[in-house]
Amino acid sequence: MAITPLMPVYPRSPVRPVRGEGVYLYGEKGEKYLDFAAGIAVNLLGHGHPHLTKAIADQAATLIHVSNLYGSPQGEAFAQRLVDHTFADTVFFTNSGVEAVECAIKTARRYHFAGGNPHRTNLITFKNAFHGRTMATISATDQPKMIDGFAPLLPGFNVVEFDNLEAALAAVDDNTAGFLLEPIQGEGGIRPASKEFIRGLRKVCDEKDLMLVFDEVQCGVARTGYLYAYEYYGVTPDIMASAKGIGGGFPLGACLATEKAARGMVIGTHGSTYGGNPLAMAAGQAVFDIVANEEFLAGVRTKAERLRSALEQMLPNHDHLFEGVRGLGLMLGIKMKTDSRAFVAYLRTKGLLTVAAGDNVVRVLPPLTIEEEHIREFVDALSAAAADYEVPAEAA
Ligand SMILES: *Cc1c(COP(=O)(O)O)cnc(C)c1O
Repeated sequence: MAITPLMPVYPRSPVRPVRGEGVYLYGEKGEKYLDFAAGIAVNLLGHGHPHLTKAIADQAATLIHVSNLYGSPQGEAFAQRLVDHTFADTVFFTNSGVEAVECAIKTARRYHFAGGNPHRTNLITFKNAFHGRTMATISATDQPKMIDGFAPLLPGFNVVEFDNLEAALAAVDDNTAGFLLEPIQGEGGIRPASKEFIRGLRKVCDEKDLMLVFDEVQCGVARTGYLYAYEYYGVTPDIMASAKGIGGGFPLGACLATEKAARGMVIGTHGSTYGGNPLAMAAGQAVFDIVANEEFLAGVRTKAERLRSALEQMLPNHDHLFEGVRGLGLMLGIKMKTDSRAFVAYLRTKGLLTVAAGDNVVRVLPPLTIEEEHIREFVDALSAAAADYEVPAEAA
C-alpha cells in the first residue's frame, strides 16, 4: 500500500514535536525549536501553561462531556463572559474555526429569512480569503488550491477584491445578505484591511440592513493586542467567528452575534454534539482568565512594538530577501522577495518555527506570553539564518 495511514493532505515537515514548554517545542530526538508559529496562532499561552493545564486536568476529572440536551452551567458562564467582553449578546460554541464560520453564515442567512426576505442569501466575500475547509467556506473563497476538484460549490458567495470599498459596494444587490471577511487576512498573507474599508462596510450594512460578519478566527482573542481586532477598527460586527487561540490549544470555537442578528437562530435551527462541553468551557475560561484584561492586552501591544521595531531594524540588512513587515500586534507578516515557503522550511532546520502564508509572507505568530529574551533570540536567529540562506534555484 502506498498511501500513508494519515491521509496525505499535508506536506508534513521533518519537525516532529513530542513535548512543549513555554515558547519551546522539543522533537523526538530532543531537538529544540523556538515556536513563533504557536500551532498557527493557537497556543496563546505557549506550551504547558500551568493555569490552562490545571484547568483542563481538573475539569477532566470532574466532568468531560454531557449532551447539549441538558442545561450547561459551564456554557452559560463562558458565554456570559464573552458577552460581557464583546459586542455580542449571544454565543454558539463549536469545536473549530470552520464550524464557527459555518454558524456565522447560517446566522446571516437566517436573519433575512426570519425578516421575511428569504431571497437575501448571498454573502460578499474577498479574494485570498481563508475561512476553513468545509463546502460552504471553500465556496466563500476564490483560491484554486482549496476549490479545485470539489465542485459543485455552494451558491451564495460573491468574491470581490479585498480592501476595495468601491468593489464591495458595487457587488451589493437585492439578494445580498451581507459581507463575510477577515478584518486582517491571515492565510492570505497578513493583510490588515484599512479602517476606511471596514467603516465603509459597516455604513452600508446599517443603511441596507445587511449583516457584517467578521471571521476573527485567526486575528481574535488578544492576538493583535486588542481582545478582538474589531476594536482596533472602531467598528462592531453583527456576527463574528472566533476560534484558534480561544481554547489555547484545546479545540474550541465560538460564533458570536447580536440579539438582532441572531433573531432567526431559534430552537432546532443549529446544533453540535460536542460544542461547548464542560472540558472545552474550562479551557476557554482559563485562557480568558489570562488574556481578557487591559493589563495583559497592553503587554501584548508593548511586546509587539518591540518585536516589530527589532524586525524593522534587522530586515534591511538582508534586503535581497526581505521587503518589510506588516500586520497588527503579534500577528505579523514578513513580506519576502523570494518564496516564503522555502525560507520557512529553511528556518525549521535552524530551530525556528514560523508559518508560510500567501503572497510570499512569513507569518510570525508567537505565543502572547513571550518575553523580551525570546524576541531577541528570534530576531538574532532569523538574521543569522538570512545571512546563511542561499535562495534555491526554483525559488529565486
Ligand atoms: C484557521 C482559520 C479558519 C479555520 O479554522 P479551523 O479551526 O481550521 O477550522 C477559519 N478562518 C480563519 C481566518 C482561519 O485563520
